[in-house]
Amino acid sequence: MNHVVVVGAGLAGVRSVEALRARGFGGRITLIGEERHRPYDRPPLSKGVLLGETDSTVVDSDLDALEVDFRAGVSAKGLHPGVVETTEGELAYEGLVIATGARPIRLRGDGPQHVVRTIDDALRLRSLLGRGTRVAVIGAGWIGAEVATAARRAGCAVTVIEAADVPLSAALGQVGAYTAAWYAEAGVDLRLGTMVASVDQGGLTLADGSAVEADVVVTGVGVRPATEWLAGSGVRLDNGVVTDEHLRTSLPGVVAVGDCAAWWSRRYGVRLRVEHWDTALGAPDVAAATLVGDVAVYDPVPYFWSEQFGHMVQYAGYHDGARLIRRGDPEAEGNTRWAVCWVTEDDRLAAVLSVNRPRDLVQGRRLIEGGRRLDVNRLADPAIALRDC
Ligand code: FAD
Repeated sequence: MNHVVVVGAGLAGVRSVEALRARGFGGRITLIGEERHRPYDRPPLSKGVLLGETDSTVVDSDLDALEVDFRAGVSAKGLHPGVVETTEGELAYEGLVIATGARPIRLRGDGPQHVVRTIDDALRLRSLLGRGTRVAVIGAGWIGAEVATAARRAGCAVTVIEAADVPLSAALGQVGAYTAAWYAEAGVDLRLGTMVASVDQGGLTLADGSAVEADVVVTGVGVRPATEWLAGSGVRLDNGVVTDEHLRTSLPGVVAVGDCAAWWSRRYGVRLRVEHWDTALGAPDVAAATLVGDVAVYDPVPYFWSEQFGHMVQYAGYHDGARLIRRGDPEAEGNTRWAVCWVTEDDRLAAVLSVNRPRDLVQGRRLIEGGRRLDVNRLADPAIALRDC
């Protein structure tokens, strides 16, 4: 193999280049990305960037030393076996990494609608946040909560509209209810169980016909894998690019990583697509191994974090079908440090969510990876370290 093309110059793309070189690949590498920026990290966009603490989140990667032909502002438009069609012509490859990430979903309506996916989005939104600005955030998910945090910090009047009956419901189910109080404490008007019909000039129209007036509308209702360019290519798509545990797609010599990849998890026996930073960081090494003919399996315990309303929220694991055990009472007045664990039928840790308890996260992650049985009575006692349960 002499030429690898990496499509998508986000974290997963640039890590793929690094991983190929680290595994000794000495051929040509071309990295194309539709944004006109060097690869950068996205988690700070809705945190430090919106808060005005930083303007740049460029990934610390020496593209010259990696001897990569980096082409910014170039998009892939289509794929045939051996050839990527781009906005600047055809690009032949022998190995291909698909790392095109995901794109935010937008809602109906002709009103201006902000999303936070790119550095340009974040800087544009930041310039609009000021004292008294009325901001309507659609969606009380991870991004919505972080945008609301930053907007309140800037002195905006913030309304968050969420269709589900709790925040963070897609990721955490009813456990998300424990975060609802944070909105009120921060002075955010959180409206649960409320559907938005459309985004209009001057605000929103709700499904019941009423209006929410706003100067700025931010839509944070999730993303879709950026795979439209792969239609008809022979790459199997099903909620992202379908891969096996080696991150191989259905086309020979083609692997996929990061937000766009739905990989087979040996650990959980299901296909997972995880839209989090840790996946974009970790998967590329396995993809690079697969391309250069080494044998590696991608089988992580998924991990992510969020910083919202002054709380560090961290999650590791996969809790489908597991039962919940609370470590401390999240609803107790003044309790800002709590965790919940999910355990399997045979008392092994499946997942942990920690709020301002980073040690629980670190120890919980190890317990999940190790897979030993726990004493669940001890687990419920926040005074006992997780590793001693
Ligand atoms: P991306 O970062 O989306 O990069 C893909 C790149 O491919 C993009 O630059 C895109 O423009 C480009 N591209 C798309 N289509 C094409 C095409 N056809 N041709 C060429 N290029 C193309 N995760 C956490 O774990 N914790 C957090 O706190 C957290 N906060 C976040 C905050 C924000 C605002 C956002 C947006 C994400 C956050 N994430 C967080 C998620 C994390 O940033 C993503 O999981 C990660 O960026 C995924 O990396 P990726 O390289 O797979 O995709």
